[in-house]
Amino acid sequence: MSKAASIPSITLNNGVEMPQLGFGVFQVPDAEATAAVESALAAGYRSIDTAAVYENETGTGKALTGSGIARDELFVTTKLWNSASQAWTRDAVLREFDASLERLGLDYVDLYLIHWPRAVRDDYLSIYRAFEGIAESGRARAIGVSNFQPAHLERLLAETSVVPAVNQIELHPFLAQSELRALHARHGITTEAWAPLGQGKELLSAPVIAGIADKHGRTPAQVVLRWHLQLGHVAIPKSVTPSRIRENFDVFGFALDDEDMTAIAALDTGTRLGPDPDEFDVN
Ligand code: NDP
Repeated sequence: MSKAASIPSITLNNGVEMPQLGFGVFQVPDAEATAAVESALAAGYRSIDTAAVYENETGTGKALTGSGIARDELFVTTKLWNSASQAWTRDAVLREFDASLERLGLDYVDLYLIHWPRAVRDDYLSIYRAFEGIAESGRARAIGVSNFQPAHLERLLAETSVVPAVNQIELHPFLAQSELRALHARHGITTEAWAPLGQGKELLSAPVIAGIADKHGRTPAQVVLRWHLQLGHVAIPKSVTPSRIRENFDVFGFALDDEDMTAIAALDTGTRLGPDPDEFDVN
């Protein structure tokens, strides 16, 4: 079995299969993105998460199109940077989407996300309706949102037609997001974790994580990724370090037990590393 074939997938609510483990490229400069994504593809990852605002769709796309891997074996996510700098008419959304495809060198993406609710602008419903048109055209196999809080999701569900396939949210053992996860489960929305490793900070040196890692002869990052996988999240760890890229992929040969899962659950303090989506407005 090839390495890629070992990645479990989640069936999204429209039937599209999404690998449960992917590779994120936030903060990777465009010039370094090609090497990072090549390294990830060589390790076995097939799902790559980028965004217009990361300014590395071009470098990411180069690695994807140059890989020789069949397009239908790859899962590519990008996101609309719904900044405050313009009015998000349907045409403006379509122009941004086309620009992302152009930079990626692809004629479709697997998943297109609204990057932030930016609720103060009150335009995510109309943006999402433009996304529904993109999905209808087949140029995004699935559409969804990112950083949506329960109230944003409830409104979206009430006022638009396509249930988002995914909500990509900050999620790690320090911020377990129980309310959102329960809401997702009720509506068939897949939970995707950004900062799954807590951005490589305090989480990875927490004694509870270190203890579980020792018990299994694994690293703290592998333990945290197992926690995500066993809870059914999609996780997209980022690294530009080839040894870590491989380490983060090598998480299918062991399992956490109930005691481990309970101990990790107790780490939830609701601590965010990123902005509060209820307050974040973007320029
Ligand atoms: P992660 O939790 O993936 O952590 C990345 C950091 O952890 C990097 O500094 C990396 O260092 C380090 N790291 C990676 N692997 C290991 C390891 N095995 N041991 C120790 N340290 C490690 O954070 P991100 O914020 O990058 O989130 C992941 C992805 O989620 C992003 O890349 C992006 O695709 C997406 N994202 C989405 C957001 C949204 O608003 N929708 C917001 C933020 C992220 P190094 O690279 O130096 O190896």
